Amino acid sequence: MAEEIQAVRGMNDLLPADISAWQFLEACTRELLGSYGYEEIRVPVVEHTELFKRAIGEHTDVVGKEMYTFTDRGGDSLTLRPEATAGIARALISNRLLRGQRHKLWCSGPMFRHEAPQAGRYRQFWQVDVEAVGWPGPDVDAELIALSARLWQRLGIEGLRLQINSLGTPECRREYRTRLIDYFSAHEGSLDADSQRRLTGNPLRILDSKNPEMQELIRGAPLLTESLDAESREHFAQLRAMLDGVGVAFEINPRLVRGLDYYNRTVFEWITQSTGAQNAVCSGGRYDGLIAQLGGEATPAIGFAMGIERLVTLLLAAGRSPPPSHPHVYVIVSGTRAGAEAVRLVEGLRSERPRLRIELNLGGGNFKAQFRRADKSGAPLALIIGDDEFARGVVAMKPLRQESGQSECPIVQLASGVDAALAALGPAAKPA
Ligand code: ATP
Ligand code: MG
Repeated sequence: MAEEIQAVRGMNDLLPADISAWQFLEACTRELLGSYGYEEIRVPVVEHTELFKRAIGEHTDVVGKEMYTFTDRGGDSLTLRPEATAGIARALISNRLLRGQRHKLWCSGPMFRHEAPQAGRYRQFWQVDVEAVGWPGPDVDAELIALSARLWQRLGIEGLRLQINSLGTPECRREYRTRLIDYFSAHEGSLDADSQRRLTGNPLRILDSKNPEMQELIRGAPLLTESLDAESREHFAQLRAMLDGVGVAFEINPRLVRGLDYYNRTVFEWITQSTGAQNAVCSGGRYDGLIAQLGGEATPAIGFAMGIERLVTLLLAAGRSPPPSHPHVYVIVSGTRAGAEAVRLVEGLRSERPRLRIELNLGGGNFKAQFRRADKSGAPLALIIGDDEFARGVVAMKPLRQESGQSECPIVQLASGVDAALAALGPAAKPA
C-alpha cells in the first residue's frame, strides 16, 4: 500500500459529525449581525506580505514569527492571512468605498498562524470578524460590545468575562513607551528572549507576554492609564457609562494591550476560564490610524474577531449543539420495476415538497438490509416502493420510531400522504 499522506500539523479537518455546532454558531451569528445592520464581505485568503507588515506591525508575534509567507511563481511575496482586519481595510481602500462613507461589515473564514499547536490553538483556525468603519465612538464601541454580549446569550454560552482598556492616542503611547523602556531596561536581566527582542522594537508587546515567568515583572510595570490624554479618558469614561447603561458587566484590565499594533483607545477581550491557557474567545479594539497607514483616507474604525474553534468547544461543553439533522423519510426499494422508477418518483416528491429531507436507498440490498439502513438514518418514516405496490399504484408507509402499522397511499397523492403520515407522528417528525 502507498504511504498515507498526513494532514498539515495544526490544520484540522472538520468532519460531518461535528458540523452541527459550527452551523448553529454561524447561523446565530449571521442572523444577529444582520439585525444590527452588518453586511457580509469576503476578502482573499492571500494578500501581499507588505499589507500585514504595515498593518499589524513588524514587532508583533504574528508578523515576526507566525506568518505563512511564500514567494509565488511571479516572484511576489505573499502571505496567508493571519487575521482579517487588514484585508478588509485594504478592500475598502482598493474598492474606493471610503470617501466619507460608513460601513458595518463582517467576514468569516480561516486564518493562518504558525504557532505551537495545542488545544484551542491551531495553525489554521476560523474567525468571525466584525468591523464598524467610519464612526469615532464611543457609541459604536458600546454597541459593538453589546452585540458580542448578546451573541453569547443567544448561543447559550455562559461564564465569559469582558475585559476592557484604553490604549489612548499614538502620542500618549509614545510617552508611555519611553516609561516602559526605562522600567524594563532597569530589569533587563529578568527579561526572556522574546521580551529582550521587543524591548527596543515595541516594549508594549512585553505586556502581552504569555510566559508565566514574566508575569511578576509585568505586574510591576507602569500603567498606560496613567499616561492617557484627556480626550481618550473621556471616550473611555463614556464607553464605561454606556456599558453600564445596557447592563454589560466588564472589568478594567489596565495591562490589556492586545497582540496587534494598530489598536488605539478602546480594546477589549472576552475570556473564559474553561479552555485552559487559551482563554480569549473574542478580542478587538479601535484602530483609527490603520486605514490612513495603509494609504486610505483617515477613517476611524473599530472591530473584533472571535475564535470559532474556541467558541464551538464552549458550545459543546454547554450541551448547546443541536443534534445532527436526520432525513424525514427513508425510501426502501424492492423489485425490478420499482428500482427503475424509484428515482423518478422520489424526484417528483422532492419537487412537490422542497423542505422534505428524503433519503433514497441507493445501491440495492435486500429488505432486511434496507430496513437496517432506514433505522440507522434516524428517519421517522419509511416509504416502501416494491413491484407489487407499483402494480397497484400505491406506496407503502411504515413508521420507524413508533409501533404503528404499515399503511398505503396512492402514488398520485404521495406528497399529501407523506404529509399526513409525518403529521401523525408528532411535531418532531414534521419538516420545518
Ligand atoms: P491569543 O492571545 O489566544 O493568542 P490573539 O490575541 O492572538 O489570541 P487575535 O489575533 O485577537 O487573538 O484573534 C482573535 C481571536 O481568534 C482570539 O480571541 C482567539 O479566540 C482566536 N485565535 C487567535 N489565535 C488562534 C489560534 N492560533 N487558534 C485558534 N484560535 C485562535
Ligand atoms: Mg496570539
